[in-house]
Formats: sequence, C-alpha cells, structure tokens
Amino acid sequence: GVEVSSAEEAVRTRGSAAATIFSRVIDRSVPADIIHEDEKCLAFRDVSPQAPVHFLVIPRVPIPRLSEATDEDAELLGHLLVVAKNVAKQESLDEGYRVVINDGKHGAQSVYHLHIHVLGGRQMAWPPG
Ligand code: 5GP
Repeated sequence: GVEVSSAEEAVRTRGSAAATIFSRVIDRSVPADIIHEDEKCLAFRDVSPQAPVHFLVIPRVPIPRLSEATDEDAELLGHLLVVAKNVAKQESLDEGYRVVINDGKHGAQSVYHLHIHVLGGRQMAWPPG
C-alpha cells in the first residue's frame, strides 16, 4: 500500500489541518536548513529572510493557525516560545530580536501551519505595518 508519512498521519489524527509545505519540511520531502529539532517541534531558516537572522519554529502537529489552537495546546505553545528564545541565543541574537505570529488574512498569514517567526541581527521598527 501507499506509505503514510508521519505528517499525514498527524493530519488524520488531528482531523482538521490540511497538509502544507511545512508538512513536507517536517517529513524531509522538501529541503530546509533545520537548526533545531525535538519531539514536538522544528526550527529552520526562512527561505525568504527579512533580516540577517530569520527562522521559523513550527509544531510537528499541523495546527493551521494560532486562532485554531485549543486550551490543550497550551503546553505545546509554551514550548515553541521556549525553543524560539533558545535558538535565538544559539544564533547569538544578544541585542534582541522580534517574535511574530501572523494569523489569518489580516495577519498576512501565507502558510496555514502555525509558525513563530524570529527575526534579528538588525534594528527593527515599530509598528510593523
Ligand atoms: P507567514 O506569511 O505565513 O507568516 O510566513 C510564512 C513564511 O514561510 C514566509 O516568511 C516564507 O518565506 C516562508 N516559507 C514559505 N515556504 C517555505 C519553504 O518551503 N521553506 C522555508 N524555509 N520557508 C518557507
């Protein structure tokens, strides 16, 4: 039979999210510069960096967007933030950095697999526009 990837299995088990390009990063069918990996998440460099350092932290389970996370996802969401700050330190972002989650149309989200952006290595502006 057809092999079911772990990402597709997660989609089936969770029963909500559609597979995106990030499912293919997770199952290694699309190459990515992965800079952290553990049992719950991955961090990898953004293919179109908006700062000298720009990486994404994504859960292995394909939650489509922050607004669709549930109370049961609280521990996972906390873990993603802890990983974001640990990898920022690993990337020597000692002068600070920007952490962003885009949600939906007004948030300008383009990939519907929840991800945390971490941008650093230059001065950021506020508001982000
Ligand atoms: P969003 O706009 O959804 O918040 O961010 C999606 C991000 O994913 C964008 O910054 C985009 O450059 C990045 N991205 C989209 N496709 C790929 C890909 O295949 N590989 C990597 N490394 N980044 C991607």
